[in-house]
Amino acid sequence: MTLPKMNRVLLKLSGEVLMGNNQFGIDPAFVLELAKEVKAAKDTGLEICLVIGGGNIFRGMAGAAQGMDRAQADYMGMLATVMNALAMQSALEQIGVETRVQSAVQMDQVCEPVIRRRAERHLEKGRIVIFAAGVGAPYFTTDSGAALRAAEMKCDALLKGTSVDGVYDSDPKKNPDATRYETVSYSKVLADDLKVMDASAVALCRDNDIPIVVFSIREKGNVAKVLSGNGTQTVVTDHTA
Ligand code: UDP
Repeated sequence: MTLPKMNRVLLKLSGEVLMGNNQFGIDPAFVLELAKEVKAAKDTGLEICLVIGGGNIFRGMAGAAQGMDRAQADYMGMLATVMNALAMQSALEQIGVETRVQSAVQMDQVCEPVIRRRAERHLEKGRIVIFAAGVGAPYFTTDSGAALRAAEMKCDALLKGTSVDGVYDSDPKKNPDATRYETVSYSKVLADDLKVMDASAVALCRDNDIPIVVFSIREKGNVAKVLSGNGTQTVVTDHTA
């Protein structure tokens, strides 16, 4: 489907993409490559809000599975997302893109708190706003944080950059016959439990009519390609035209 004209988008990257080819943590050279992708998208004239996960460092569920208190582990996960946000800020500023980090968990020495009106002002001035720490509460993920900020900042779409080029009817890594959807409705994603984003994030996007564009961030130049309608992606929406 052709994407409608967009002025402001929220780009969600899972923490895993910051690892590059490593198994854990942050690969600064790879983060720089990602920053170039983000810059290319910005250079098309878009206002960009960015949300980065923390899975390359710590996931609350994994901590809980090893016996940690879930909420405590989730707070550690939120701190991981702040580290990733700072790494991305540093990479973006290295290539001349002005950014601000706003965290849902307040840490004044490190970044701003989330203040919607201030974020608006940053975007108007051409800065990229990186929203860290998800929704700022345990038992959530950065997918929900991304959906929340996309709604709050009135973004035209939520772009979800992952390691697969869209949403498939079954896992393409396990099933060679899996087929990719061009578009799929929110209700189908929820009913079939298609692995796009958390159910709460999908529901929030559905309730606020925010299309979710799922694409591969691993392919060079792909963000700009997807935005110009020449990429491979799946659009989760209730509009089929
Ligand atoms: N997290 C949380 N509340 C939020 C956002 C994140 O508790 O609003 C924690 C949670 O433990 C999560 C971790 O931070 O597992 C890292 O975020 P996420 O799993 O979404 O990262 P991604 O999978 O996108 O890399």
